[in-house]
Amino acid sequence: MRRTRHANRRDFIRQAMAGTAVAGLLPAMVSKKAGGEDAFAPKDSIRITDVKTVCTAPERIRLVVVKVETSDPGLYGWGCGTFTQRPLTVKTAVEEYLRPFLIGKNPDNIEDLWQSMYVSSYWRNGPVLNNAISGVDMALWDIKGKRAGMPVYQLLGGRCRAAADLYAHASGRDFQEVEDSARRWMEKGYRHVRAQVAIKGYSAYGASDAGEAASNLPPETQVFEPAAYVRTVPKLFAHLREKLGDEIELLHDTHERISCAQALQLGKALEEFNLFFWEDPLPPEEVDYFRQIRNQTSTPIAMGELFNNPHEWIDLISERLIDFIRVHLSQIGGLTPARKLAALAEHFGVKTAWHGPGDLSPFGRAANVALDLACYNFGIQEQHVFNEAAQEVFPGCLKIENGYEYANETPGWGIDVDEEKAKKYPFRESPSFDMSWGRVRRRDGTIVRP
Ligand SMILES: [Mg+2]
Repeated sequence: MRRTRHANRRDFIRQAMAGTAVAGLLPAMVSKKAGGEDAFAPKDSIRITDVKTVCTAPERIRLVVVKVETSDPGLYGWGCGTFTQRPLTVKTAVEEYLRPFLIGKNPDNIEDLWQSMYVSSYWRNGPVLNNAISGVDMALWDIKGKRAGMPVYQLLGGRCRAAADLYAHASGRDFQEVEDSARRWMEKGYRHVRAQVAIKGYSAYGASDAGEAASNLPPETQVFEPAAYVRTVPKLFAHLREKLGDEIELLHDTHERISCAQALQLGKALEEFNLFFWEDPLPPEEVDYFRQIRNQTSTPIAMGELFNNPHEWIDLISERLIDFIRVHLSQIGGLTPARKLAALAEHFGVKTAWHGPGDLSPFGRAANVALDLACYNFGIQEQHVFNEAAQEVFPGCLKIENGYEYANETPGWGIDVDEEKAKKYPFRESPSFDMSWGRVRRRDGTIVRP
């Protein structure tokens, strides 16, 4: 009898994945305890049978993706748990701690699983465990989409725009190189460009100049002086506005390397160039200072790339101190907390600008774009074009055309992993991307954040 029910259920799921399911036929969630640890699961519900990570670096950026397998043959999901600076800690958290916690549970109840994973370590809200939870969380949304026969953005309420408008990165050793780089993106159809320029003699974020190392600093030191940076950046934007005109939307990332007073000076100096946004003027440790910045400059502020938990963004949003909330989805625990953050921000006029360079997997990008399409308060999406190797490892990477990124219309994320090809790109011992942090110092040797 049980075998028959199970077979019927498999047939139903196949129909659902083919997009032919009728809404409302899935077994209702039962409120009484079904026994064991999983209080909400119907007795014949599918179960999580395995949870594992795949670590791969097809672009030399260390990616961690999580696979959740179920008791229904062929039904599994993928999620992004990429904390590229400390990837092996996430792998351990997933395989040694979340895997035994999850096996046997019903993958349907995403909210309950998220909340229980979140408190399962008692101490919580850190980047390692949040990324581990995110890998599972996004995989559960992938499974949910496959069961419903829908792309994930449909599960979030459907689309309220056709595609996600992207901003590209332009950088260079001098103003002319930045201008040339911006023009190349504009020729490809981009309407938004983030501009970063090298600061002569210093190692600036996004564009470095090989400057003189001071005195007896460690040999790997990259020297940065914030005053030189603050003097240079307004001149860059004066050049770009003069050469590129007013139509192109320009963005800039300070990457939190300056003092509070310098942030005020820079925000005011940039006003006349009408930036689309000015990112991370201060580190997360200085968020209280946004009240002063907000009151004294009209330059739009994007903040939050380094945030881990709601206590870091609730006041900034509810006091309307920023214009764009900019978190890395896996860093805060995945799609489940991000959709709540987006909803909170909508009510205070804050728009989304999810972090999205190369240090997230195609599943992380797909989660970003699902929210971009489904959330009314979408602002802009950071762009990354995966190389050929990454597209081989992850068949189904999202399409970009004319500066717009489009969601897949296949169920779930519509992306898979070729696990054999992933093995061709193992982590290297010391990829330069991941080892670059913690080396930037002032001339006198003081460490600069970050
Ligand atoms: Mg940034």
